[in-house]
Amino acid sequence: MTDVIEAPAAVKPINHWIGGSLTAGRSGRSGAVYNPATGQQTGAVDFASVEEVDQAVQAAKAAFPAWRAMSLAKRAELFFRIRELVHDRRDTIARILTSEHGKVLSDATGEVTRGLEVIEFCCGLPTLLKGGMTEQASTGVDVYSLRQPLGVVAGITPFNFPAMVPMWMWAPALACGNTFVLKPSEKDPSASLFTAELLKEAGVPDGVFNVIHGDKVAVDALLEHPDIAAISFVGSTPIARYVYETATSKGKRCQALGGAKNHMVVLPDADIDMAADAAVSAAYGSAGERCMAVSMLVAVGDVADPLVDAIKQRIPNVKVGDGMQPESEMGPLITREHRDKVASYLDGEGDLVVDGRDSCPDDGFFLGPSLLDHLTPSDRAYKDEIFGPVLGITRVSSYDDAVRLVNENPYGNGTAIFTRDGGVARQFQFDVQAGMVGVNVPIPVPVAYYSFGGWKNSLFGDRHIYGPEGIDFYTRTKVVTERWPDPATSKVDLGFPQTR
Ligand code: NAD
Repeated sequence: MTDVIEAPAAVKPINHWIGGSLTAGRSGRSGAVYNPATGQQTGAVDFASVEEVDQAVQAAKAAFPAWRAMSLAKRAELFFRIRELVHDRRDTIARILTSEHGKVLSDATGEVTRGLEVIEFCCGLPTLLKGGMTEQASTGVDVYSLRQPLGVVAGITPFNFPAMVPMWMWAPALACGNTFVLKPSEKDPSASLFTAELLKEAGVPDGVFNVIHGDKVAVDALLEHPDIAAISFVGSTPIARYVYETATSKGKRCQALGGAKNHMVVLPDADIDMAADAAVSAAYGSAGERCMAVSMLVAVGDVADPLVDAIKQRIPNVKVGDGMQPESEMGPLITREHRDKVASYLDGEGDLVVDGRDSCPDDGFFLGPSLLDHLTPSDRAYKDEIFGPVLGITRVSSYDDAVRLVNENPYGNGTAIFTRDGGVARQFQFDVQAGMVGVNVPIPVPVAYYSFGGWKNSLFGDRHIYGPEGIDFYTRTKVVTERWPDPATSKVDLGFPQTR
C-alpha cells in the first residue's frame, strides 16, 4: 500500500469585522491559530494597529445615534431573531469552537447554550430598561428615572469561552442601546466573526457590532480611546488588574473579571461517589480550562482516602481525544506552550497519584487528567491558577480549616461544598468569601437572570457580568423632575427647591 502524505490544510486568513463587513488587516502583523487536536496551524489572524482600532470605534460611533433611537419594540424583535439564528446554528458554532479551542463538541454545544440563555434574557429588554416613576413627589411635580446607553463600549475576551463570554457582553450591551467593539482572544478568533455574520443576517445595522483582532496593541488602543465609554474584560488576573487600572484612569467604566482557584470542600458526611463524580467532571471538563473549574479539592477528615481512591478509579475512564470525535470527553489544551506549562506542575511538590502525560494522544496539545495529592498552600501547584487538567488535593481536619483555606486564597471566583448537612452548607454559604457558591453543585455558574462574578482577585470593578448587574453596567440613569404649572402662578423664588 502506498503511503499517502496529506498536504497541510490551507491557512485561512482571519480578518477584522468593521462597519458590517470583513476588513483585511493592514498592520502587517498577525498571529497563528491552531487546531489544538492536531497541532497544525489553520489560520492567521490579523493584529490591529491603533488606526484600525480607531476605524472600528468610529464605525460604532457612527452607528450609535440610530441604534439608540430604535424603538424598544423593534430592538426586541431583532433580539428574538438573533436568538433564533444562534439557536439554529448552534452546531456550526460548536464546530468552530472545537476546531480552534479544542474542547469536545458536546461541551462546545453547552457553551453556546449557556450563551444563548443570556441572549434570551436580553429579549426582555423593554422590561429590563424600565425606569421608575413617582407621581406628585411635590405638589404638581412628578419625578421619573430613565436608563440610557453609554455609547460605544468594548469587550476584551479570553480564549476559553470564545462564543459564550462575548455573548455575556455584546448581548446586554446591544440590548441597552450601546454599540460594540469586540476584541476576542487571538487564539480562537473565528467564532466572533461567525457571530458578526449572524447579527448582520438578523438585521442588526452595520457598525453596531464590530470585531477587531489583536494583542496588547489593540487592547491598549481600546483602553486609551476617548470615544469608548466602558470596557468589559474577562481573562487572567494580572491583565484584568491592568485593564481595570488603565481604563478607569482614563475615566471609563470598567468591569474586569480575572482568574480563579476554585476550591471544592468535601465533608466527611458527603456521598463519596457523588463527590468523586463531581470532582472529576468539574476538574477535567474542557481540560480544566474553565474559570469555574474545580482545581483544589479540600478533603475534610477521614473522607480523604476513600475520595482519592474513588477519583483515581474514575480517571482512566475519561476519554481523551480529538473533540470532533463524538466519543471524546476531554480534548487538548489551547497551545503547546500552555500544555507544557501545565505539565511542569506535575514534577513539583505533592504526590503525583495520576500522571496525565502517560495517557494522551501524541499529536496535538494533549495532557491527560492528572491528580496531585497532599498539596499545601505554599506549593506552587496550590498557589497558581494552573488552568489545565490537574486536580490538587489538600487534606484538613475540620470544617473551620477548610473555610480558612478558601478565604485565605487570593482568588474568590467560585467554591463548592459537598455535604448532606443542610445546616453546615448554609453556614458555608454565610462564611465563605467567593462570588459564586455551590452546594453539592461543583460549577455554580449562575443562570442568566442572576449575574456572574467573583470576589477578591477574580473581579476588579463593582458590577458582575450579565443578568441585572450587566444591565446596570451598560446603562446610566437619569432622573427627570417635571411640573406643568399654570403660568399665572409663577413667581421668582430664590430659596432652595423644597418638596411640599
Ligand atoms: P489572558 O488574560 O491571557 O487574555 C485575555 C485577553 O487579554 C485576550 O483578549 C488577550 O489578547 C488580552 N491580553 C493578553 N495579554 C495582554 C496584555 N499584556 N495586555 C493587554 N491585553 C492582553 O487570558 P486567557 O489566557 O485568554 O484566558 C484564561 C484566563 O481567563 C484564566 O485566567 C481564566 O481564569 C480567566 N477567565 C476568567 C473568567 C471569569 O469569569 N472570571 C472567565 C473565563 C476566563
